[in-house]
Amino acid sequence: MRTDDPRHILQRYGLSPRRSLGQNFLVDVSAPARIVAGAGVESADLVLEIGAGVGALTAALAEKAGRVLAVETDPHLVDVLHDEFDSQSNVTIIHGDILSLAPHELLEVPVPQGQPLWGRRLPHYRVVANLPYYITGAVMRHILESEIRPVCMVVTVQKEVALRMVAEPGDMSLLAVSVQFYGQPRILFRLKRGAFFPAPAVESAVVRLDLFDTPPVEVASITEFFRVVKAGFAQRRKQLRNTLANALRLPGDTVADALSNIGIAPTRRAETLSVTEWGSVYIALSPLIAGSEGRRLD
Ligand code: SAM
Repeated sequence: MRTDDPRHILQRYGLSPRRSLGQNFLVDVSAPARIVAGAGVESADLVLEIGAGVGALTAALAEKAGRVLAVETDPHLVDVLHDEFDSQSNVTIIHGDILSLAPHELLEVPVPQGQPLWGRRLPHYRVVANLPYYITGAVMRHILESEIRPVCMVVTVQKEVALRMVAEPGDMSLLAVSVQFYGQPRILFRLKRGAFFPAPAVESAVVRLDLFDTPPVEVASITEFFRVVKAGFAQRRKQLRNTLANALRLPGDTVADALSNIGIAPTRRAETLSVTEWGSVYIALSPLIAGSEGRRLD
């Protein structure tokens, strides 16, 4: 495996990390192999790497995976990646912003129309990403809401974000519901600030999300489901009865009755509900909000 320190690579090319692109390169020598092992990458696997940088993770992935598609937005780093990896037949470097690249296009898979969203898993692929913190949420949504979903995602994120993703009822947030609707997250390990160059202001953690084959709750519309969840978290310290009634513009008593009918006390707060309970709330409220305009989660 290539062992060049990212700092030396940058120096050789006369480049400096660009803060505006969230460039904190992995310099901890053991971290790339630990991330690849944590992602369960095997020789048959296709891996989509997001934000390849100067290739610290790319090199470790290329050693284990059948094929690596490495996406990087910075044209200077794309040149470096070509120099470093063009001789490796299982690595393809892609220049672009991941948010404007659809996974099915990257993987060159035609998406048949009119098929159910869940279970569209071909080809079997994994996502590995050490993401700029400011686009973590957007990139995760982009992948999780895409036409073809990976079997698992391993992302390096701010430690606090990792803890919010794996939260349990009592401490749930919109982020926790958004992640846990699609899969089972767990923290693999933490990384200290010094594992990166330049060192970020906060500690990081590597999270693995194993995607479900089928949704944990049957919802007719994922968009409408998240509309209800988002309404519930609009005022997270308030009672569900009030926050749902305000955000969905429904009478408080109607919401309270609907919640009571499914065994959820109207006085509970959004942070106490599991994903399954949110499914019940959505099903109970959807006849009341049918016809009103839905919004995507943002
Ligand atoms: N994977 C490398 C590593 O671990 O050393 C680099 C990680 S660095 C935190 C994030 C990388 O994502 C940077 O190289 C940055 O240029 C790239 N990046 C930022 N925004 C991106 C986007 N929208 N699409 C693709 N890559 C992006």
